[in-house]
Amino acid sequence: MTRALVTGIGGQDGSYLAERLLAEGTEVHALVLHDEAQPPYCPPEVTLHVGDLADVAATRRLVLDLAPDEVYNLAAISSVAQSWAEPDLVSRVNGHAAVALLESARQVGEHVRVVQASSAEIFGEPDQMPQSEQTPVRPLNPYGAAKAYAHLSVAVQRQRGLHASSLILYNHESPRRPTRFVTRKITAGVAAIAQGRASGLVLGNLDARRDWGWAPDYVDAMVRAARTEAPDDYVIATGVGHTVRDFAQVAFRCAGIADWEHLVSSDSGLTRPADATALVGDASHAREALGWAPTLGFEDVVAALVAADLAAGAT
Ligand code: GDP
Repeated sequence: MTRALVTGIGGQDGSYLAERLLAEGTEVHALVLHDEAQPPYCPPEVTLHVGDLADVAATRRLVLDLAPDEVYNLAAISSVAQSWAEPDLVSRVNGHAAVALLESARQVGEHVRVVQASSAEIFGEPDQMPQSEQTPVRPLNPYGAAKAYAHLSVAVQRQRGLHASSLILYNHESPRRPTRFVTRKITAGVAAIAQGRASGLVLGNLDARRDWGWAPDYVDAMVRAARTEAPDDYVIATGVGHTVRDFAQVAFRCAGIADWEHLVSSDSGLTRPADATALVGDASHAREALGWAPTLGFEDVVAALVAADLAAGAT
């Protein structure tokens, strides 16, 4: 039986990944922080190990004890906004701890396969659109800088013989995404307006452009990367960019509200010190080498989130 260790089980990707691995008969172990002893969407069949990924020595003992076949490192401080407030914490968790985990996995033995959840934020404000694996790594915020360190370290360990892939994940969403992200903030807000529980929505930069995909598709890419014979860096994205304004427009339309612009305001207090304005990815390499393709496009993703928030608000 294949044994997998998943870090970051408390996030949307961790929960979808655990469901996917369990469904195919993989034994799933997960590292959880003390304060999330039973993560919200974590299936009960997952064996939980309490610990902090950033406690490098304890994590190494766990990895060596478990000797997993596959390690998925999804644990991270996932908010770019928070990374401005706590750059040291973000560098420890998203950077240093990931690098230590790679070394721990290497010590397990030659059979181990590692998938690192990297991020489009490593590209910062890129000169080219869409971005590919060849785009210069030039982060603009502490989150991107820490993720870049982990990303580059995957390549270093791969050159040393470790089966390790870094997936440069573009924004990917689901109803399990917390509302601190703009997508769920919008769809939860739209549902509240449609149901008479709110009268407006305050956002930050409406012109930021993102490539928004469907989280379970991105989890599928992670499993494919672990199972391929050719570990590598892979951009995982839909290839289509939309602005925050586009997202809001489609979300209101999905809730039956055509005349929406007066319901949204932009507060400069919510804009970021530096914000990538055009992150759109070219996943050709993943399509060719991993046979990966997204199953849902932008409008489907928005519709799924709005439907879930309308259903939740109606109960
Ligand atoms: P990120 O791309 O991982 O930082 O994901 P987010 O969903 O947090 O942000 C996506 C984009 O939406 C960024 O460019 C934000 O600046 C922009 N944005 C605009 N208004 C808001 C808002 O009210 N909340 C958040 N979180 N982001 C916003």
